[in-house]
Amino acid sequence: MHTILSHPLVSTAMSVLRDKHTTAAAFREALERLAFHLCLACTTELSLRSYELSTPLEQTTGYALQGGVVVVPVLRSGLTLLHAFTQCIPEATIGYVGLKRDETTLVPKEYYCNVPPLDENTTVIILDPMLATGGSMCAAIADLKKRGATQIIAAVVLAAPEGIAEVEREHPDVPIVCAAMDRALNSHGYIVPGLGDAGDRAHGTV
Ligand code: URA
Repeated sequence: MHTILSHPLVSTAMSVLRDKHTTAAAFREALERLAFHLCLACTTELSLRSYELSTPLEQTTGYALQGGVVVVPVLRSGLTLLHAFTQCIPEATIGYVGLKRDETTLVPKEYYCNVPPLDENTTVIILDPMLATGGSMCAAIADLKKRGATQIIAAVVLAAPEGIAEVEREHPDVPIVCAAMDRALNSHGYIVPGLGDAGDRAHGTV
């Protein structure tokens, strides 16, 4: 299942990302704004427990998250979305997954994984701005499932139809929330019309 956000402020922030003249600082700011939208859309189904609290005036009902939330940016570009997610979900703990493509097999292999304990009550939100072929996202999901994750959500800024299809084929239980979906992947694996290399543009490494 996938959701594509529809909101005027998502459209304007996406246009900042797409523009090749956008500076690295403005690119990071637009990513952060989109991350807030993604976070709200990813968390609508989180369970709550109620408790009694006292306002300065009287007793009332308060709410707290019932299960844990772990936010997992895929290194390195997923880091650009992390701050907004932890701002919106201060209760969240943070894990990291680093993936690198094997030069001969082209299969993404994990080179780093450090995640808090996961159980069936934990919601794991994977952050990666770009869902291109779906290879990295599928590898990250598989790693996190091996570590005990059962409720996983993929939060991405821009997706290619090919990437969405791959994740839905390999992991039909994982909902994908994306800010936008483009036409296709080109022969170099870039999403078109796209926004270029998100990691390079955000880190100023182009
Ligand atoms: N990763 C990116 O950063 N950009 C693309 O277009 C595809 C994958």
